[in-house]
Amino acid sequence: MMQSVSRSEQSVHDLQTQMQGRVIARGDEGYDSARRVWNGAVDHYPVAIVLCESVEDVQAAVRTARAHNMPVSVRSGGYDVTGRSVRSEAVVIDLSQLNHVHIEGQIATIAGGATAAKVIAAATASNLIAVTGWNGLPGMTGLTTVGGYGPLIASHGLALDNLSGAELVIADGRRLTVDHDENPDLLWALKGGGGNFGVVTSMKVRLHRGRRVLGGMILFPWGEAETVLGRYAKAIASADIKLSVVIGFISLPDGSPALFLAPAWTGEISDGEIAMEVLKRCGKPMHVQIASMSYQDLVQSFDARVENDRCYAVESRWIPKLNPETVSALIAGGTSRTSPFSTIVLQHFRGLPTQIPPDSTAFGLRREHVMVEIIACWDPATGDGSVHKRWARDLSQTLAPMSLPGGYPNLLGPQAQDQIAHAYGNNLTRLQAVKRRFDPDNVFSATPLTV
Ligand SMILES: Cc1cc2nc3c(=O)[nH]c(=O)nc-3n(C[C@H](O)[C@H](O)[C@H](O)COP(=O)(O)OP(=O)(O)OC[C@H]3O[C@@H](n4cnc5c(N)ncnc54)[C@H](O)[C@@H]3O)c2cc1C
Repeated sequence: MMQSVSRSEQSVHDLQTQMQGRVIARGDEGYDSARRVWNGAVDHYPVAIVLCESVEDVQAAVRTARAHNMPVSVRSGGYDVTGRSVRSEAVVIDLSQLNHVHIEGQIATIAGGATAAKVIAAATASNLIAVTGWNGLPGMTGLTTVGGYGPLIASHGLALDNLSGAELVIADGRRLTVDHDENPDLLWALKGGGGNFGVVTSMKVRLHRGRRVLGGMILFPWGEAETVLGRYAKAIASADIKLSVVIGFISLPDGSPALFLAPAWTGEISDGEIAMEVLKRCGKPMHVQIASMSYQDLVQSFDARVENDRCYAVESRWIPKLNPETVSALIAGGTSRTSPFSTIVLQHFRGLPTQIPPDSTAFGLRREHVMVEIIACWDPATGDGSVHKRWARDLSQTLAPMSLPGGYPNLLGPQAQDQIAHAYGNNLTRLQAVKRRFDPDNVFSATPLTV
């Protein structure tokens, strides 16, 4: 009697015969750890995770999945909060084995699975700096193709402003080179449109001279938060673009809230020390830890604060500025946190990236703004987190009337339909045209391009 073989079993069999890298299917040893991502709240069950060892493996995975009409998702660092890289019932094209970084002159060629930390380490060894986020843990491709707010934003732009080329495997399994001469529309789209056009097997990014920054953290008591944010808003308006600052609402060891300003200064140390004094005078700091350090040490100090075994849900808004109305909403949100692990992070988009014409990259917002991350975080042993998710959603709703339309696509989950529709502003029509040209069957769905 003929045994019926399911579509997924047949696709796993074909993947196993056509790929060099390991194929981990349901029931295989290692399946549970291979499907896990950073966010403990994500519990997705793909059909198989394929650990690609070469671009040919990526091509084989795409072609095989398509031949069996199986959905795919692409995993680089696995730090997407909603777990979009590990899709249930899909073939996961895992790039973690493709993680080499090669530097020539001031250009880094970065394989699709390299983390930002790996890129920073390679750049540091060449006395150069890579434009990344504040954390080194996420994949460099997921970060760079959608945005990349980080410690160098005011002086060197978003990570995507430093992207100069890429190699892609598109939906029919072909390899494409993308740069200013070949497929320039696709290069434009990759600067904000994310992994929606194919598997980015490598990228070329521009590095910058230098490796040291003046940075660290200035911690203020919660009772001063309103004054500090008000004074910060005034001080930053006339600050040099060599200064970038991330602001965070965190918990002290006893669980009570506190506010930090974490600056990064890329110019002369003596000038930076003056800039730090201005920030310290925003209040009466309870703790100051500012020093000249390598960019790598700065980013590692943020990585050390990331908790890996917790559950997360994130809401995000673009607010035009910190004014009395937004500050008081944020402080009320910080005060009403339902978990000591939850935080609010403010990333200030100012300086160089605001001078880049809005239509020169797909990224949707080039005016000065503050990107607000409302991060609900809880211990998985304490339940499904609904109370913490509600806290984040309520604060996001409170901020909505004070916010700009849209939001940072890397942080917009399926619940943020109103924001997704506006995330690319006037660039949406061109972005959709590139999508129709290179991925008409919507094989690759990374961050949402539209609702
Ligand atoms: C702890 C933490 C800190 C963060 N800090 C910052 C920060 O400072 N600044 C900032 O801007 N953002 C930050 N982010 C957001 C982060 O940049 C995004 O979540 C980013 O998408 C993560 O990239 P990844 O490769 O790790 O994600 P993954 O989960 O692997 O992928 C994310 C999405 O991109 C797609 N994708 C990934 N790689 C490829 C590829 N090579 N080809 C095609 N599609 C691909 C995936 O399919 C998925 O849809 C942070 C996130 C976390 C969790």
